[in-house]
Amino acid sequence: MIADPKGLYQEVILDHNRKPRNYGTLEHPSHHAEGLNPLCGDHIHVSLDLAGDKVEAIAFQGESCAICKASASMMTVAVKGKSRSDAQTLIGEFVAMATGRLDPRNGPHIGRLAVFAGISELPMRVKCAILPWHTLRAAFNAVATASTEADADPMRTPLGDA
Ligand code: ZN
Repeated sequence: MIADPKGLYQEVILDHNRKPRNYGTLEHPSHHAEGLNPLCGDHIHVSLDLAGDKVEAIAFQGESCAICKASASMMTVAVKGKSRSDAQTLIGEFVAMATGRLDPRNGPHIGRLAVFAGISELPMRVKCAILPWHTLRAAFNAVATASTEADADPMRTPLGDA
């Protein structure tokens, strides 16, 4: 299915880095969180508007490396219009995939985000890729700040057999 994962990965990252989708802020977001990855210096804000159970609008902005920015951009596209529970399922699948615990073929919601599967082989960049998702989860849970160095750091949880 993915003939040239490295090439595709680079192409998608470059595209979203050049033209990040949903970049900016929302005027009156119902949920917001700030995300920090001290290892790389990534610092982003994720804002969303939940209308009932649906992610009506989502935006991100901040200073980050290309991988973090591309991941955030693709995340906003992936969760916009989804229900909160579907978005949370996707957060779980993405983090599991990026940390090498889930084969993207076994992640029913991963779709195009599978281009990030190779990131699990680049330990220095894993936190860059998962920071936006970590931050979105914090926003859903009304936590003001998410950090990849927090106790809930998915990199420190034991790896399963997935
Ligand atoms: Zn980074």
